[in-house]
Amino acid sequence: MVRGLESIDRVGVVGAGTMGSGIAQVAATSGYDVTMRDIEREFVERGFDSIDDSLDRLVGKEALSESEADAARERIDGTTDLDDLADCDIVVEAAVEEMEIKRDIFADLDDVTDDDVALATNTSTLSVTTIASATERPGNVVGIHFMNPVPIMEGVEVVVGEKTSEDAVALAHAFSESLDKTTWEADDKPGFVSNRILMPWINEGIRAYDEGVATKEDIDRGMKLGTNVPMGPLELADHIGLDVCLHATETLHEELGDRYKPAYLLKRKVEAGDLGKKTGTGFYEYD
Ligand code: NAD
Repeated sequence: MVRGLESIDRVGVVGAGTMGSGIAQVAATSGYDVTMRDIEREFVERGFDSIDDSLDRLVGKEALSESEADAARERIDGTTDLDDLADCDIVVEAAVEEMEIKRDIFADLDDVTDDDVALATNTSTLSVTTIASATERPGNVVGIHFMNPVPIMEGVEVVVGEKTSEDAVALAHAFSESLDKTTWEADDKPGFVSNRILMPWINEGIRAYDEGVATKEDIDRGMKLGTNVPMGPLELADHIGLDVCLHATETLHEELGDRYKPAYLLKRKVEAGDLGKKTGTGFYEYD
């Protein structure tokens, strides 16, 4: 049994990076109290900086009043101590896309939180079932896969693991809807719906660039104008983070075979530390 939506006051978020800070922000602007946890104080502070920037932009666009933004910011506590998640009514994990790290986090969350608390993962491609098996309550573990940037993107993919209970699935939909999101559901198969289709598109864009098919600008322009998407593959890869794209593509490659082999240039850029927007350099340069 998982605690229902009506009993959710405090949301725990594990990871204060691109996604974790966005999830903490939308939970807070939707009226929840939030505890956001990362491993180092500087990462928690960086999360708060991006929340402040994002809230300022929303106030600038008049999507939020200044007092609503201030109230949301007040509702978010930051911590490096996992024990501070003990009083959360649901936890969403958005730490790095590495199975062993996620399994360790879920084993710890299992110890720290009450038994009827749902434990959600924002994983892009990893198996929810494998993550859930690190806990004594796999029925309470579900994928709530937000899209980037979380405050802007409306869609959320609910991922159903082998042991995920109907209660947990229903809560994942209801909780996402309470954040003003619209959900779709996917089985726990590699990449679910979104990344199974998106990652090879990005990967092929990188290969086309590496193999000299066109300039990066023309690849992005061609896909934007040719298929009516808001960003081309290289621009979108920078936006997501090249390390995140590489981890996702490696998982798909491992699970689904050669059609998902990561592009050579993607690996080289990640090895060089050029991860896209978040490091200031990816396929493009950012201030
Ligand atoms: P990120 O690198 O921006 O942030 C990850 C954060 O997790 C970092 O701040 C890191 O310090 C922290 N972390 C690492 N180990 C931790 C631990 N044990 N406890 C708490 N925090 C820990 O990554 P991101 O882009 O925010 O991705 C997070 C998750 O969301 C990944 O699973 C990723 O696949 C998924 N995701 C990413 C995107 C995207 O576009 N970036 C979209 C959807 C889903």
